[in-house]
Amino acid sequence: MHLVSPKRVFKGNKAWEKALPEISKLTKTPLLVGRSSATNYLRQKIIQDLNLYKSNTINESLHFDCCEEDLNRLYKISSENCCDAIIAAGGGKVLDAGKILAHHLSIPCITVPLSASTCAGWTALGNIYSQQGQFIKDIKLYSCPDILVFDHSFIKTAPSITLTSGIADSLAKWYESSITSSSNRDGLVQQAIQIARVLRDQLFIDSEKALADPSEENVAWINVVEGNGLTAGLIGGIGGEKCRTAAAHAIHNAITQLQPKNKPLHGEIVGVGILIQLKLEELKNANKLADQSIKQLVKFMKQLDLPTTISELGIDIFEGNNLQRIADFTCRKESEIHFLPFSVNPNDIVKTISIFENQKITI
Ligand SMILES: [Zn+2]
Repeated sequence: MHLVSPKRVFKGNKAWEKALPEISKLTKTPLLVGRSSATNYLRQKIIQDLNLYKSNTINESLHFDCCEEDLNRLYKISSENCCDAIIAAGGGKVLDAGKILAHHLSIPCITVPLSASTCAGWTALGNIYSQQGQFIKDIKLYSCPDILVFDHSFIKTAPSITLTSGIADSLAKWYESSITSSSNRDGLVQQAIQIARVLRDQLFIDSEKALADPSEENVAWINVVEGNGLTAGLIGGIGGEKCRTAAAHAIHNAITQLQPKNKPLHGEIVGVGILIQLKLEELKNANKLADQSIKQLVKFMKQLDLPTTISELGIDIFEGNNLQRIADFTCRKESEIHFLPFSVNPNDIVKTISIFENQKITI
């Protein structure tokens, strides 16, 4: 089954204002879920606007990442208040929490991304983490959200690191789907891979221009934020599970186990995961172009000030058993690393990361 897209997508200027009448038809007692104090004023605006439609909005925040403890607390609050929909307004973890809550409560879900850091506002997937931010599992949901509101004036307020992190996460669509699914003969999967390639090229061309001027008047900025928040989600929707993730995300999930102290964003870790995946392809799959791809990507990521090694994420892999922990978690039975068209074991990961972290990449 393919869960291709949200039922309705409002995007661009005044997307929130355009979506409001539709949202008010769907819910009278929504649970609004957020997290960051920096975006509190946007959630207050959402509440005030919903009040104009006589909504009784219950406002709650995540205390941690999207974790069982937060979810259980919010299930209870939603049930006690007879909430008839979830509105998730925030970054990827808030959006995931909103979607998982709505899924389990069988009520509509409205996602309102407040940054372009992931495509979580679009997809029918949610990741569960520990309170400390360690990846635990992903949950496949019954559907994509009922309404996605991608309002440029909301997205514009987010710090630029969320945009660069989102760019790295979007780039992974190409590097992961092309290796896992290039021999898949399903036309839809092939077309999804080509969209991922076009998205990658567009990000290579537009990202620096987008970061230089984050405004609704800048076409490059619009292309990049919509690429991260919408197109990246569509690729997963059309292409299905195997088109989504492979080694880069498996390595991301493993790195979160070590709880990096400076709490890098999802896409910052995934970006490093792409580079390690390419190194793995070079060593295990005789991919002669991998070295070129690594150089091209490292140059691009440095221009965007993105981390390019695990040590730049704040983890010394040579300390204690850090490297073995990453290798073991990357290769656990249910890991997406096994979507690769060649077998990978923990020793392969230890070897690849050791070489990768020690090498000097000249660009
Ligand atoms: Zn991702």
